[in-house]
Amino acid sequence: MSYDTQPAASHFVAGGYVEDTAGAEIEVIHPATGAVIARLHEATDRIVELAMVSALEAQEVWAAMTGAERGRVLRRAADLIRERNRALSELETMDTGKPLQETLVADAASGADALEYFGGLAGTLTGEHIQLGGNWAYTRREPLGLCVGIGAWNYPTQIACWKAAPALACGNAMIFKPSETTPLCALKVAEILVEAGAPAGLFNVVQGRAEVGSALVTDPRVAKVSLTGSVPTGRRVYAAAAAGIKSVTMELGGKSPLIVFEDADVEDAVGGAILGNFYSSGQICSNGTRVFVQKGLRDRFLRRLAERLEGVVMGDPMDEAVNFGPLVSAAQRDKVVGYIRTGLGEGARLVCGGEAVPGGGYFVQPTVFADVTDGMVIARDEIFGPVMAVLDFEHEDEVVRRANATEFGLSAGVFTRDLARAHRVIGNLHAGTCFINSYNDAPVEMPFGGMKMSGVGRENARAAIDHYSQLKSVFVRMGAVEAPY
Ligand code: NAD
Repeated sequence: MSYDTQPAASHFVAGGYVEDTAGAEIEVIHPATGAVIARLHEATDRIVELAMVSALEAQEVWAAMTGAERGRVLRRAADLIRERNRALSELETMDTGKPLQETLVADAASGADALEYFGGLAGTLTGEHIQLGGNWAYTRREPLGLCVGIGAWNYPTQIACWKAAPALACGNAMIFKPSETTPLCALKVAEILVEAGAPAGLFNVVQGRAEVGSALVTDPRVAKVSLTGSVPTGRRVYAAAAAGIKSVTMELGGKSPLIVFEDADVEDAVGGAILGNFYSSGQICSNGTRVFVQKGLRDRFLRRLAERLEGVVMGDPMDEAVNFGPLVSAAQRDKVVGYIRTGLGEGARLVCGGEAVPGGGYFVQPTVFADVTDGMVIARDEIFGPVMAVLDFEHEDEVVRRANATEFGLSAGVFTRDLARAHRVIGNLHAGTCFINSYNDAPVEMPFGGMKMSGVGRENARAAIDHYSQLKSVFVRMGAVEAPY
């Protein structure tokens, strides 16, 4: 099977596709060619209201089911996603421009993992019994109610599933707003959940830009907001949620350090740096874009990096031999090219790449800068493109201090053969998701999220359950009530 890039309608609400052409148009563009592949409309107030009402109704039905019954639906959805992995991956590639070689293994597959994992947990969610002498208390783990999910454009299927799976497992409903740049894939997740037995309205997808997102976040019927996006957007959405005292999960940006000590296996370290900078053309929040290499290894590291980057196959991302795709949009390409110019202007040494590729697509060569210093803009800002900054260091204390000198705290990685040092350094880094002799692994069993400006809360693993449920405490007196009068 394969999916048309033009969906039946813009939104998936109350169990089916709905349209309202009064909403502003959204053109969906295939990043490898610049061709328009679908036209959608932003959600109007009518669509948002329909989504709210149907989600609230569905949530009551859903929360009344047993956890095991809810889990069965999620696991069935995981199976359907795996069966349709190729069609979903092709759609993801059309939507994002990421190579099919990547999407076949990283996107729908990761979404299915989340649905399966949280489907398994759904039947295990319990409160506790607290004995208080003759009296006792118990806690109930209850859903929050209606949750809003808002996605970034880099992993549209994965983000929809990473938010939906724990939210639904806990008995919540969700309204999900994908990024306006990649709006297609979440619709398929919604279709599949209904097919798997989710009540109509439990997972609604509404399209739109910031204004629609803001309407969802500020609605008093919404109990929780989970955003994946940039820090500036996070600040706005967090503030809007705070006005309504809503719970939040914030998965935001990063400028993560990847530290390579002289004793590291150089091939592994170069491999980690490649994965942590050029996978998905660098459009990954947790990327290790500040690569600190200890001085004695610097030249060998750069030589092997340049040699291995000759293996880049840039081109039509639908061709499975291609391993490097375009950036998601012309705006993102221009932003990344702007940063490359800034790096050159700041005196960083260009080791390879550095150019946008002419033509209709939004390709930028994988770019490596060496001799980068801490104060340079390219060492401080999140570029969100294929630009690696290599910085030199001499001592462990020095590199830890410099690695931590950032407002971000999403990820960090260390390559060394000295395991005591690896754990010591990771222990001293201010980052939420860390890697030793590896980079960017994100299994569903491991919590994912950031410290400092990179976020609030955690996705994946049991940790996510705390962010999609709340405890109700119940005190039970077994004897008489002794009142003073
Ligand atoms: P963005 O911040 O521009 O947009 C994210 C989403 O927020 C979009 O759906 C957008 O429409 C919506 N939005 C914007 N303003 C809003 C408002 N005022 N109210 C409600 N919603 C609003 O991010 P992007 O450019 O789509 O994605 C790239 C960013 O996302 C990068 O900074 C990247 O690091 C981050 N990201 C983080 C993670 C993570 O898990 N930590 C994962 C992927 C991407």
